[in-house]
Amino acid sequence: MNTKTYLNADLHCHSVVSDGTMQPEDLAERAAKNGVELWALTDHDEIGGQARAAHAAHANGMAYLTGTEISVTFAKETVHIVGLGFDAEDPAMVAGLAATRGGRGERAQQISDGLAQVGIKNAYEGALKYVSNPDLISRTHFARFLVESGVCSSTHEVFRNYLVEGKPGFVPHLWANLGDAVRWITSAKGIAVIAHPGRYKFTANEEYALFSEFKTHGGRAVEVVTGSHTVAEYVKYADMAQEFDLAASRGSDFHCPQESHTDLGSLPYLPGKLTPVWELLTERIQTP
Ligand code: AMP
Ligand code: MN
Ligand code: MN
Ligand code: MN
Repeated sequence: MNTKTYLNADLHCHSVVSDGTMQPEDLAERAAKNGVELWALTDHDEIGGQARAAHAAHANGMAYLTGTEISVTFAKETVHIVGLGFDAEDPAMVAGLAATRGGRGERAQQISDGLAQVGIKNAYEGALKYVSNPDLISRTHFARFLVESGVCSSTHEVFRNYLVEGKPGFVPHLWANLGDAVRWITSAKGIAVIAHPGRYKFTANEEYALFSEFKTHGGRAVEVVTGSHTVAEYVKYADMAQEFDLAASRGSDFHCPQESHTDLGSLPYLPGKLTPVWELLTERIQTP
């Protein structure tokens, strides 16, 4: 497999196995049509779609890396750590992800209770209609239900008004520990990647602590070019990748044709000065 920097790699997206709306097979076809050469499906806290995704990638002529996006709590904030190229059967990884998913059902009931207090009834049942994987109910499913019921006109509006800190449907939750998440990935022969760092509401000191501790635990890459970043953030995190000697990743974070601004495979290439994460994963890439 060619591991050039200017590769159309899309190493971050979601299927119905978490909070995306498309089947892994349909995502693979869409990615290939958009010119993706190396693909990873990275469902939240889940690897149930990996075998289907790898198979569909190969059927569409793409190389594949296993993927997931682990929810972590760091400095009282939720941080996402993408894992790439790990062994999807590794027992510690499988158990760690199951434990991370574990609290989602009860959290969803509490989200529903919070929404009921402001007059939005039966949100749990409503959200469930959008859930394919009963272990993986997420805020996104609530957002889709609130759009359907006419409470808001877009999922972004639902998040802003109902599902973030200080709003009625927000429930604080303790996700995985940073060190544990990084170790599950690396012990399973994968590479841990800080997802969309530009999205976290950290002070400069907290962000520095995240990058430093991530490295101490064995993390080796950061998303630089992602659908969640502005062009200014590509520049900022390219510099931070160099400062912390981290490889760089690229991924759309595509969830749904109607909701996602960034389509699969449509982002700019990584800056040429960076080491692409796929250069660290040559042995782990599954070619067609
Ligand atoms: P959860 O894991 O249940 O907390 O849900 C997190 C997911 O919600 C993220 O992965 C995004 O897909 C989605 N999300 C978070 N913030 C927003 C937002 N402001 N607008 C739309 N979707 C969002
Ligand atoms: Mn999501
Ligand atoms: Mn994320
Ligand atoms: Mn994501």
